[in-house]
Amino acid sequence: MSDDCLFCKIAAHEIPAEIVLENDHVVAFRDIAPKAPVHVLVIPRAHVANVAEAAAQAPDQLAAMAAAAQQIADDECGGQFRWIFNTGERAGQSVFHAHGHVIGGRDLDWNPA
Ligand code: AMP
Repeated sequence: MSDDCLFCKIAAHEIPAEIVLENDHVVAFRDIAPKAPVHVLVIPRAHVANVAEAAAQAPDQLAAMAAAAQQIADDECGGQFRWIFNTGERAGQSVFHAHGHVIGGRDLDWNPA
């Protein structure tokens, strides 16, 4: 855990969030500013900056993130969803703890999260 990381604090239940799924590997919670009827952030428990670091340093957790994303979509939007990882400030990343945006519940055009 990183002491100054918002998402580490959510994973530790130190900051409130609407958690929809959690297990030993991942935590998933609703985005505070949803862009679609379903907009959930899936994070690894490990503090890694982005999806590439997750793959390199915590591959089991990245696999668990994919399973969690599918589970959330199965539960909430018929199993169909977009999974977005903004990587770097110019790509729109604002929180530097890896997170996949699970977006669904409506027809999706090209509308980056
Ligand atoms: P990104 O811009 O890809 O780094 O995504 C960060 C996401 O975190 C944004 O969609 C924010 O709306 C969301 N966010 C920021 N703070 C919180 C929070 N306290 N609880 C839930 N979602 C948050």
